[in-house]
Amino acid sequence: MKLHLQTIFVAVGLGIKRNWHIFIAIIAGIIFGNFIHDNPDNFKKIVYLLNIVGQAFIRIIQMVVIPLVCSAIVVGISSIGDSKQIGKFGKKMIIYYGIITVLAVVIGAALVLGFKPGIGVQEFISQTAALEIQNNVSSALAEQKGNIGNIFLNMIPQNPLESLAKGEMVPIIFFALIFSLALSKVGEISRPIVSFFESVFAATMKITDWIMIFAAPGIFALTTVAVSSFGLSIFSTISKFFAIVFVGFCIQFFIVYPLILKIFSKVPIGTFYTAIIEALLVAFGTASSSATLPLTIACCEKRGISHKVCSFVLPLGATLNMDGTALFQTVCVIFLTQAYGVTLDPIQIIQIMLLVIIASSTCAGIPGAGLITIALVLNGLGLTPQQLVEGFAFLFAIDRVVDMLRTTVNVASDAVVTAVIADNENEIDYDLLNNTDQYKEII
Ligand code: ASP
Repeated sequence: MKLHLQTIFVAVGLGIKRNWHIFIAIIAGIIFGNFIHDNPDNFKKIVYLLNIVGQAFIRIIQMVVIPLVCSAIVVGISSIGDSKQIGKFGKKMIIYYGIITVLAVVIGAALVLGFKPGIGVQEFISQTAALEIQNNVSSALAEQKGNIGNIFLNMIPQNPLESLAKGEMVPIIFFALIFSLALSKVGEISRPIVSFFESVFAATMKITDWIMIFAAPGIFALTTVAVSSFGLSIFSTISKFFAIVFVGFCIQFFIVYPLILKIFSKVPIGTFYTAIIEALLVAFGTASSSATLPLTIACCEKRGISHKVCSFVLPLGATLNMDGTALFQTVCVIFLTQAYGVTLDPIQIIQIMLLVIIASSTCAGIPGAGLITIALVLNGLGLTPQQLVEGFAFLFAIDRVVDMLRTTVNVASDAVVTAVIADNENEIDYDLLNNTDQYKEII
């Protein structure tokens, strides 16, 4: 019996001590959070304290993200060196991330159009739309309106140092890419600065190792606070909507990614999921792909994928590839039109899918960002302003729970695409990847 259990745990990636801690922290957080939700008055101080612990954990990981992204890109591109190879990696990355996102959007649309979870829920949506949420929502909607052109312009930093200071990921990556390409063209003179970034990268990875010591308490605190705000009873009220989104995520995670790995590479699926399990658990706990990035890089690199590929593909993926978010946004938008009885023609559905692809990839890898960018898609769908605000407020109320799941999906797909590209380019050490025993020593 003992042996059996052990085999099952190893199979799902839980044979490793730290994974166990994080996994148990998540379960305990769900149970305790739900208990607090049912008895809120007795636990106000505890929730306050846990919130501080959870936020401290997220902030401390976020602290290393910007130095890590900059150094990873500089070191990665200069180690690739040859601009033809950079172009090849870049093309593959766009193709694989593209395939995964288009599939996510199609799966989301097929599920929500097939099962129609929005029909009959209009009354519930109006009731849940709390006034205070509506105010936040109105400003979010106003901010996003008609902003596609600006979104593209904002990707180009006017002042890279200002973007660094503000933590704007996309402009930072844009500058880091161009800067690294230039470094790779200027020969020997680039050496001191590349060495500098190599040291920064090594130090930030070391800090990530230290941070992981606090992963279990940090994630326990985050999960407890999140669940205490909505309670598990939320699932019965939004059961059909949630079921559709959940099934969509499962299709991506258990069917699409394994198929992509199988068709385009020889990476063993189960082993690979085991290799990245810490990153997936942290993604679930923090609901932030950006904050998870140091760990995603650590899992992939220390388990056999070359630094060249990880440092180029993962930071871009954590910022631009949001297929879980895209699936969720597609379901949300069509769900709301169903709830308010707006009929969509096929052209409108395709329009929604295209807008979602843009909206999701411009969304930051932080908690709740996917919901704000949805406003971009919701505008102009024939809903009245009142309906827009109410519908958006409804989504706001249930967002955190779905966010934890979609972030896990986002992070998994970043890692899957990285593995496929690494396989195609002979940049995987299969002896290390397949040697799951060695994983115990990592982090
Ligand atoms: N929280 C998600 C992420 O970090 C983004 C979203 O809100 O969809 O990947």
